[in-house]
Amino acid sequence: MTSRKTIAIIGGGAAGLMAADVLSPHCEVHIYEKGKALGRKFLVAGNGGFNLTNSAEGEELFNQYTPKDFLEPALAAFNSEDTRNWLACLGIPTFVGSSGRVFPEKGIKPITVLQKIKYRLLQNGVSFHFQHEFVGFNAAYKPILKLQETEITPEADHYIFALGGASWPVTGSTGNWLDAFRLLGIKTLPFQSSNCGVNVNWPEDLRNKFAGAPLKNLQVMVEDFSLRGEALITDYGLEGNAIYPVVPKIREVLNTGKEAFLTLDFKPLNSVDQLLQKVQGKQIQPKNYEQDFKLSKAQLALIKLFTSKEDYLNPEKLMHKIKQLEVPISSLRPIEEAISTVGGISLEAVNQDFSLKSFPHISVVGEMLDWDAPTGGFLLQGCFSTAYFAAQAILMKAPVA
Ligand SMILES: Cc1cc2nc3c(=O)[nH]c(=O)nc-3n(C[C@H](O)[C@H](O)[C@H](O)COP(=O)(O)OP(=O)(O)OC[C@H]3O[C@@H](n4cnc5c(N)ncnc54)[C@H](O)[C@@H]3O)c2cc1C
Repeated sequence: MTSRKTIAIIGGGAAGLMAADVLSPHCEVHIYEKGKALGRKFLVAGNGGFNLTNSAEGEELFNQYTPKDFLEPALAAFNSEDTRNWLACLGIPTFVGSSGRVFPEKGIKPITVLQKIKYRLLQNGVSFHFQHEFVGFNAAYKPILKLQETEITPEADHYIFALGGASWPVTGSTGNWLDAFRLLGIKTLPFQSSNCGVNVNWPEDLRNKFAGAPLKNLQVMVEDFSLRGEALITDYGLEGNAIYPVVPKIREVLNTGKEAFLTLDFKPLNSVDQLLQKVQGKQIQPKNYEQDFKLSKAQLALIKLFTSKEDYLNPEKLMHKIKQLEVPISSLRPIEEAISTVGGISLEAVNQDFSLKSFPHISVVGEMLDWDAPTGGFLLQGCFSTAYFAAQAILMKAPVA
């Protein structure tokens, strides 16, 4: 009879839990987690709108991910419908809300979702080892875990790392594992913020008057990428659902050392000509811009800030600014505040099944890997899909009892 394989999963977040769920019916599974509890970032994610996945399917789903081609097999093997079915089997019914975001049914708290997952893992015999912090690799390329002052190396047939990215370090996902992998010769990339706000050097006056003001029905453009949504003026700059998706483009520009600009269109439903027609024959005075162009005080303040006096006083030129206002971005918000990070383990270092090319007994899943996706359920889906795919690959390779 074939003996059961032992799998050590390091990191007890969304990806680690999914890997454990796939493997535990067939293998002896141990989860090592540095905190005193599982899934702290999962619970933080549940504090706002808890998007467990997104109803997007096929190409619509794959297109949300960068790099799409590398992630596509994992996303196809475990897609958003699979996530919903998986949750339903755990006793978590879901519903589809706006923009395809998938939420747990009303009244189901994030902690309940986590408890149901944990309960199933316990039923399947998964062992949890809390306060075990991964601190490096030994000479045999096996992980060293620190439990208070003691260092241990769990023996396992396969190791799965699911240590998360580096945003919201208060949840335990600090990214402090990066050096250990780099020292092993694995290609790593520095963490950078994703799904975050952007810094704009507002003058104090604008900050004092308009921090907290929404910019509704906005079209945001960066180079060839554009989208509609809402943004919020904050103390530091701009944030909101129209800002997060353009962050990858802004990051790309900032990384080249160039200045990055957001182009804002405050009247995305009207062309410049249509706007001109609306005001034709009227005596437009700057003091009436707010009413005549139907702009909010905050919109007008932004336009004034980034328009020369001469253009501001000329209604026709102003119209072009309403449609195309360039706002200079000084930087992205810090990693600590970002919803997710890019960077970590380079995808060049892993095989298609997320095992390390140079150490195939080690797999890396979830946000530890250098991929990007917008909010709206796509981040957790990416974690679930990579973890599922890696775990299935281990099952296919290893003879199981
Ligand atoms: C405010 C916020 C809201 C979010 N909302 C959503 C949402 O609605 N929908 C969505 O799809 N995504 C959302 N996300 C993103 C999503 O939560 C993450 O992408 C996802 O949790 C990452 O899962 P993971 O398993 O890769 O890593 P994590 O969930 O970060 O888990 C990693 C685990 O590894 C442990 N660990 C770290 N280092 C070590 C070490 N050295 N040794 C041992 N253990 C270690 C950590 O303690 C942690 O438990 C949100 C994120 C934030 C911050």
